[in-house]
Amino acid sequence: MSINNNNNEYLSCNIIEHGFDAQINSINLCCRVSKDNITGKIVLMPNYKGEKINWDNFFKITSTLRNYQKSGKIIPQCKGCIYLKKKVWDNEFYINTININNWIKCNASCIYCDRKEYKHHKEYKIYPLIKSLVENKYLRMPVDITIAGGEPSITSDFDKLLKLFIKNKITPVRVLTNAIKYNKYIEKGLQEGLINILVSTDSGTEETYKRIKLVNRHKNVWKNIKKYAKNQKNNTLVKTKYIIIPNYNDNQKEISEYIQRNIEANVKEGYLDVEMSAFYGNQSNGYFIEKLYNLYKYALEEAKNKDIQIFAFDRMQLVINKINNNL
Ligand code: SF4
Ligand code: SF4
Repeated sequence: MSINNNNNEYLSCNIIEHGFDAQINSINLCCRVSKDNITGKIVLMPNYKGEKINWDNFFKITSTLRNYQKSGKIIPQCKGCIYLKKKVWDNEFYINTININNWIKCNASCIYCDRKEYKHHKEYKIYPLIKSLVENKYLRMPVDITIAGGEPSITSDFDKLLKLFIKNKITPVRVLTNAIKYNKYIEKGLQEGLINILVSTDSGTEETYKRIKLVNRHKNVWKNIKKYAKNQKNNTLVKTKYIIIPNYNDNQKEISEYIQRNIEANVKEGYLDVEMSAFYGNQSNGYFIEKLYNLYKYALEEAKNKDIQIFAFDRMQLVINKINNNL
């Protein structure tokens, strides 16, 4: 399906054009936060329970959003989003950006987790949906696929999904895993350079790990991270994340320990973020923003001349923007 139109320069993003977000009860457009805690959560298919998707009908639904952007307006949920770009879009119908967010089960119990309220919910199978995209040749490379959760590696669909991606060399696929359980298909994907992982440890010490995750798996997690790092094809595939949570880990000592654990595990990239509700509840508080910024600067300083780089992730980037704009 394609439409001839020479005037295809407009403000849009990869998700509006070629993506979707598989959520717990629905297929949505997006799970990202555009501005001020508003998300691109536009429900494309409500009450979705894993039914077969007619992709032509799906593209009819998404093309209304594309045409909205093309008309010069901005979807209200997307206003202010950093992912909007003005460029010439291709006007074709295929998928390359997917967030797999429908899983709930987890072997940790993080204090900030939003999945707990769904713990009795029955998850639908995502594998048939992705397989049908591949078989119908609607998945186009390079992809931007993120597998989140719950904890993906304890879900029965997960291994099949990774096997499908590895077999068809579908890349890059990002897996957000807590690394409590070691997974041989993640290992294989890392060895082949097709998969990358992001592990939120949010801590560097056993005590803080336990306070945040409510399980006692700190040593085991860093052992698994180290093993994944040993198996990665290049040294940027295994990354960790530290979500700053006020009164739990917002101190220099914990950040310093976190950097140390990464060095011991041979991880070369660490990301600092801020817990979502804490950030959006306090983003106008100058003291709060400054404290976060100072922790970020401290982390950069701690990592200096060591074999690791620290980056700002999502809300930490917003903190930096606020400081730079004197907000
Ligand atoms: S513009 Fe932002 S919020 Fe909207 S769909 Fe794209 S990434 Fe999501
Ligand atoms: S690891 Fe992820 S899914 Fe599991 S409890 Fe923590 S935030 Fe929730």
